[in-house]
Amino acid sequence: MESTLQGQLKSWRQYLHQRPETGFEEIHTAHYVANILETLGLEVHRGIGGTGLVANLTVGDGKRVIGVRADMDALNIAEQAPGRAHASLNAGKMHACGHDGHMSMVLGAARLLAEQRDFDGTVRFIFQPAEEHGRGAKAMMADGLFDRFPVDAIFGAHNMPGMPAGTFATRAGGIMASEDNFVIHIKGRGTHAARPHMGADPIVIAAQIVLALQTIVSRNLDPSLQAVISCTEFITDGIRNVIPSNVIIKGDTRSYSKEVQALLETRMREVSVGICRTHGAECSFEYTHEFAPTVNSEQFVELAVSAARNVAGDAAVDANVQPMMISEDFGAFLQVVPGNFIFIGNGDAPERGGIPLHNAGYDFNDDILMTGARYFAEIARLALPVGTNRS
Ligand SMILES: [Zn+2]
Ligand SMILES: [Zn+2]
Repeated sequence: MESTLQGQLKSWRQYLHQRPETGFEEIHTAHYVANILETLGLEVHRGIGGTGLVANLTVGDGKRVIGVRADMDALNIAEQAPGRAHASLNAGKMHACGHDGHMSMVLGAARLLAEQRDFDGTVRFIFQPAEEHGRGAKAMMADGLFDRFPVDAIFGAHNMPGMPAGTFATRAGGIMASEDNFVIHIKGRGTHAARPHMGADPIVIAAQIVLALQTIVSRNLDPSLQAVISCTEFITDGIRNVIPSNVIIKGDTRSYSKEVQALLETRMREVSVGICRTHGAECSFEYTHEFAPTVNSEQFVELAVSAARNVAGDAAVDANVQPMMISEDFGAFLQVVPGNFIFIGNGDAPERGGIPLHNAGYDFNDDILMTGARYFAEIARLALPVGTNRS
């Protein structure tokens, strides 16, 4: 019905918002996106890493290739938005992170570039599953994403509530943190609450471990570097008058480099095992890498900043934003190919884009769709310029 691109982006976005699907179940979503890309004349490859897909657009004979990535998954959140006409139709699921908007922006860039054909080379539009799990990027790469579809650089964006609508922010180096998870199992010896000397109380031991873990960031890490260690679960098999035999501590760490990740893992293991040994308890320590840090390469930050300035104006672009401690699956791609990740402001008015990500009242701000689509199209023009790109 609406013939303008803005109208089309909005209708794509709201259609996707009504049909949220969670990680690796984005079947209808991937089908919908693939059909649009095929209608635009792109060559679409489906089923990469589960529900992921790649659509190629080649113009001219330039050999250079870039990737533009969107994430497709929603969250297990029940949307709470009375009166919202495009609210979720899938009970208990919601696009509360704005991936509906990311898809629409990247589809918009595909349409702009397919119509204007003002670049020389290949743009690969990569739609990944399961960003929220931190599993989708790895699944696509394990399925041969970059072997089948190599790229020289990759670009991604995330909307950011609290930043003025349509503004941009990025930085060279780490922009979003790694996320690692840990599970510490302390096996003591349960006993009567009134006869503690007969056992080995794992709660007292675990409490010491929780406190001692807090000294790693404050006493072992170079103060110029950043990290967070958070214990988030403390599970025992005790009851009111029984000292338990087992305590499990679970938690989460964030940092910006492999070296810091390794330091955290090593010191956490030493502290946990050492305290358990002191008190005659057994310790098992598991540490898993969930998200790689998102680390931008300088060369492509410059390109991304130029593209954002061309689209939104100099004043709307922060080229050296403070890094954030949240994590993003795009970081896994940046471990393998260089590129840039940028934030685009979703709005700072409370009801107009300013509701936080992952909140049941959140909505992607349709007013920034065109800005995002133009940004990704401009990336292609700057990275694959006509006339300078022949091999
Ligand atoms: Zn999210
Ligand atoms: Zn997200």
